[in-house]
Amino acid sequence: MADYQFETSKVIEKAKKYNPRIIGLQFPDGLKIHALKLARKLEKELGVTVLISADPCYGACDVADTKLEGIVDLLIHYGHSPLPLDYNIPVIFIEAYAKVDIIPALRSSLKLLSGYDKVGVATTTQHLHLLDEAIKFLEDHGKKVLSAKGVGTRRGQVLGCNFSSVKELDVDVYLFIGSGDFHPLGIRLFTGKPVIAADPYTGQVNNIEDFADRILRIRFAAITRAREAKKWGVIMSSKKGQKRLSLALNLKKLLEDSGREAFIIILDDVSPELLVPFRDLNAFVVSACPRMPVDDYHLYDKPILTPIELEIVLGKRGWEDYTLDEILF
Ligand code: SF4
Repeated sequence: MADYQFETSKVIEKAKKYNPRIIGLQFPDGLKIHALKLARKLEKELGVTVLISADPCYGACDVADTKLEGIVDLLIHYGHSPLPLDYNIPVIFIEAYAKVDIIPALRSSLKLLSGYDKVGVATTTQHLHLLDEAIKFLEDHGKKVLSAKGVGTRRGQVLGCNFSSVKELDVDVYLFIGSGDFHPLGIRLFTGKPVIAADPYTGQVNNIEDFADRILRIRFAAITRAREAKKWGVIMSSKKGQKRLSLALNLKKLLEDSGREAFIIILDDVSPELLVPFRDLNAFVVSACPRMPVDDYHLYDKPILTPIELEIVLGKRGWEDYTLDEILF
């Protein structure tokens, strides 16, 4: 099991300033397994009562400050960097950097990076502390390495809905450091350049091209199916970091102007079960998390599109200009 830096001493020192009686803890699913140990320690050291949030949490777009307002005096949110949002209660963010050796994965990546001179590096919150070590390793092996800050993100950091740190880099290839296909797919679709993903947990390295190609085919098929849809649901989330009301209103208007019916449906966590009662709808477009249509499409039996994909359905954008939806703060 991977280990993480939970920075408990720092949390205790910071928490004391708020003199809390009740503290809330919030984790992404992958870190919840550590919740009991941390709660026990904080209760003992601070003399507080801890409430552990078991609701799903997929990003800093989903901080539980609104839900826990009036219940806890302080919230500690693990696993994400803060977004430039206003919070209803005091929140301490702990990134929870992974304790992992990056070098074996980097060493394996050299073969797939051969033939490329300029490399852009990107990673997620859990590995931001490894970025300098990764850059030095690549430079020591003859690469020119570029990285940049993004809009609301730190140097080299990408979120599932924010790839601004990599979009403008003048590079031949990207090296993503982290696990899963979710973020490297985003880099590939936003930049159109090759992406090599190096997983520091397993040491495995792969080129994301085949996966990206498969996803693009699936998106093309969803757009084609959605062309027939006359009644649409515009899915909006009430989560603070996903709440794009003006986008939802624009999508409804776009659909209505094209002679289709459209209804805005607002939810906290979007799931297929909650959409069952709206069985008259033929298709959905999402103003909530931009990744939902691309990553969760298989859960829905009706086409579920991003706003950009809806533009293609309506003839306002060509397939050659396909890209992912983004939330930039
Ligand atoms: S909106 Fe989606 S992709 Fe963006 S941070 Fe939230 S969960 Fe991640």
